[in-house]
Amino acid sequence: AKEKGRDAHAIYNTEMEEIVQKSLWISSELKRAIVKEQLSLVFQPILDRDGEIVCAEVLLRWTHPEKGPISPAEFIPVAEGSGLIQEIGYWVLKETCYFINRLKARGIVLSSVAINVSARQFNQDLFVENLLTEIMEQGLAADTIELELTEYALLTNLDIIKQRMHVLKESGISIAIDDFGTGYSSLSYLQTLPLSRLKLDAAFVSKIGENDASNAIVKAIINMAHSLNLKVVAEGVETQEQHQFLRDHDCDTFQGYLFSRPLDEEAFIQSLLKPNTI
Ligand code: C2E
Ligand code: CA
Ligand code: CA
Ligand code: CA
Repeated sequence: AKEKGRDAHAIYNTEMEEIVQKSLWISSELKRAIVKEQLSLVFQPILDRDGEIVCAEVLLRWTHPEKGPISPAEFIPVAEGSGLIQEIGYWVLKETCYFINRLKARGIVLSSVAINVSARQFNQDLFVENLLTEIMEQGLAADTIELELTEYALLTNLDIIKQRMHVLKESGISIAIDDFGTGYSSLSYLQTLPLSRLKLDAAFVSKIGENDASNAIVKAIINMAHSLNLKVVAEGVETQEQHQFLRDHDCDTFQGYLFSRPLDEEAFIQSLLKPNTI
């Protein structure tokens, strides 16, 4: 048993080492990714109850010249850990503003474009100031921009967060809580923060139809959101059954592979110009 224990320990150490090596590799390569133009954005349509594309979620992509595509689920946490997320987040914001302006030039106006903002980025002192400056310099209406924050961003000083969110709201920027239902914080922030939307996490959506309990949770989240004057977007909608259930229970907007994968800019514009198919 002692031998076995030591082996397990050795394996554990090797795995740990691999993870550490990989993070180190990611963070050193990621530093060069912006200037080497390896980053790009894709856009996933979000549809309203009529099947109309009303929003887009901006998602970051990194294509490494040798390793190929690296998932944001892998490199965003590393970027957060190393502080590189500030620079990357700023790049995403700037590029998103250019994107909105290019849409505008083609006569396309979305009701919102949602950007993912990591906790560390949001909690940086100059975040709001930099954001508003960028939007102003690019001549955009702030009310097109929505920020997606996870509950992790709310774990620090709630008074400061509240104040910050009020400034954003007064400027027209709306805030959505991403991955709603997966965090560990209490729900009391829903009463005090000026939020616009909850994004029902894909984990709940994927369980629709499995049993009464999972259906009940989805219904309860939508009802709670609505009674707090928040809109609900369902993430990760993959089947007609899920879409139907969510529609039947008054979910406001829908996002997922059933409608579209994240698209590059040209494909996104093409899908906007196409008459809706659902
Ligand atoms: P997220 O914000 O929860 O984004 C949703 C993820 O689900 C995206 O993965 C999207 O491509 C994927 N998805 C959309 N519809 C479906 C579906 O029907 N089924 C399934 N299985 N997946 C679906 P992606 O693009 O790999 O991004 C992963 C995470 O990386 C994001 O999760 C977000 O937390 C983070 N991320 C992506 N871009 C950015 C960014 O610009 N800034 C920051 N801070 N984080 C980002
Ligand atoms: Ca809006
Ligand atoms: Ca998101
Ligand atoms: Ca999400």
